[in-house]
Amino acid sequence: MLQLTFWSIPPLIAALVCVGAYVRIQNKYNVPGVSAVLMLLAAVMFWSGAQFIGSLFTEIEAKIAAAKLAYFGIVMTPVCWFIFSMTYTRKQLKAPRWLLNTVCVVPFITICLVMSNEWHQLIWSDVHLTFARGYAGLDTVPGPWFYVHTVYSYVLLVSATAILAFSISEFSHTYKPLLAVIFAPIIVSLANLFHLLPWNPPWFDMTTIGFAVAVLILDGGVLRYGLFDNIPVHREWVVEKLLDSVIVVNTDGGVIDINPAGLNMLRVDREQLSKHSITEYIRTMPLAALLSSQSKELTLYDRAYDVTSSALDRNNPESDVVLVFRDITTRREQERRLGKMKRELERIAHTDALTGLYTRRTFFERLKEEAERVQRHGSSLSVLLFDLDHFKKVNDSYGHDVGDRVLQGVADVSIAIKRVNDVAARLGGEEFALLLPETTQAGAVKIAQRLRQAIADEPHLDDHGNQIWVTASIGVATIRQASGQVDHILKHADQALYRAKNNGRNMVCCTEA
Ligand code: GH3
Ligand code: MG
Ligand code: MG
Repeated sequence: MLQLTFWSIPPLIAALVCVGAYVRIQNKYNVPGVSAVLMLLAAVMFWSGAQFIGSLFTEIEAKIAAAKLAYFGIVMTPVCWFIFSMTYTRKQLKAPRWLLNTVCVVPFITICLVMSNEWHQLIWSDVHLTFARGYAGLDTVPGPWFYVHTVYSYVLLVSATAILAFSISEFSHTYKPLLAVIFAPIIVSLANLFHLLPWNPPWFDMTTIGFAVAVLILDGGVLRYGLFDNIPVHREWVVEKLLDSVIVVNTDGGVIDINPAGLNMLRVDREQLSKHSITEYIRTMPLAALLSSQSKELTLYDRAYDVTSSALDRNNPESDVVLVFRDITTRREQERRLGKMKRELERIAHTDALTGLYTRRTFFERLKEEAERVQRHGSSLSVLLFDLDHFKKVNDSYGHDVGDRVLQGVADVSIAIKRVNDVAARLGGEEFALLLPETTQAGAVKIAQRLRQAIADEPHLDDHGNQIWVTASIGVATIRQASGQVDHILKHADQALYRAKNNGRNMVCCTEA
């Protein structure tokens, strides 16, 4: 038979409150303690749900079955509260297995005894139906293990609350979370004690309502209030897990606090460090520089760090200082590699691929620089333009590859002849140039003659090992400050080269611009 009475409403409300809170919290956080809170809600939900179902029936068998079912929630509720306090204060997302196993031993025995109560009456020494106020309720007389279970539950509840209260009062600046963790279990206990009062019907247990209210307090006062957003427990956790090294030092260099990354960086353990100054571990930078607010870099054990220092109290020169070390080794390494690649690219852009001489563009840049220098400081500058004679024939007779080898050989000769500050370039095809800073026309002609002779004397080999000889015609042009004809130097050198070609080749002609 089913009964519909007022007494079914409180457990139903408790179950619904738990369902609502479960949905809200489940979607909101993924942080230490929250899985235990969800377990707690599930346990209370189970407990109050079983109570509700039991209240609907009038048969004693159905009521006993529901009461037994409720015990799964009853034994797990204080366990979950305890696990919440442990995971929250120890900043763990999940409780360690050994802890779970240990705290579940007594609940497990209780459940076994509840299920087999008919044989030993250790949980309920007597169970019977009572009728009052139009309601059929289950009246139970506690057996000996019931007291063991009750004491154990209260021990868990009180110790968990004490641990939570201590931890929160230690780290939190506000009282709301502290009040919440103390009030929540007090309300549970009051609801539980209310059950024992003489005027209360024996079947009416308010404890589930107490737990539902307690969870709401926890949600509003601890979870929502910012436990997982900004209270220092959480902040401390961030510093502990940070990859950057964080070290708090006083103005003498004494270490006040350091995170695990910092200990790792200094290769020291906390105890050792507490006896020494930071300068004994960071020797590459004096303490004053380390503490100054300017940005700086230092190297420790072959790793590069970017260091920022901020005084905890800016108005106090004696204030402790927080040092944050960011490892920038990888970034520096990448910058070094990029720099190397850039230099290599620049070198390639400035170099003729066949001969390794400077390119036409680079030659013109250098010529412009040198010409400006002449205009500013006086002295003179000469340019040699030289072109291989009848080079087309070399290509035609021996092939393009041999021609290339000859061009490389001529380039090598020009490098051998030139002085350190002279610039040798291939302007295109078989036409080359030498830029001779600080060189008069007489000097330039001497070098041109040496070059012409060296080219003519240099044998090259064809594909069969036969010697090939080439000659070059050279045009020389020189500018001096007074002349002011900087732009025309190449034109004059070209004209001189043209004359050399016309006058029979393998010769040097010159003009003064
Ligand atoms: P000239 O004495 O009047 O300078 O006669 P030339 O044959 O040297 O002059 P011309 O300008 O008629 O021919 C230049 C030749 O140089 C044409 C081309 O076959 C050759 N040449 C130009 N660039 C290269 C190159 O990169 N490699 C090779 N193997 N030959 C080249
Ligand atoms: Mg030629
Ligand atoms: Mg030519």
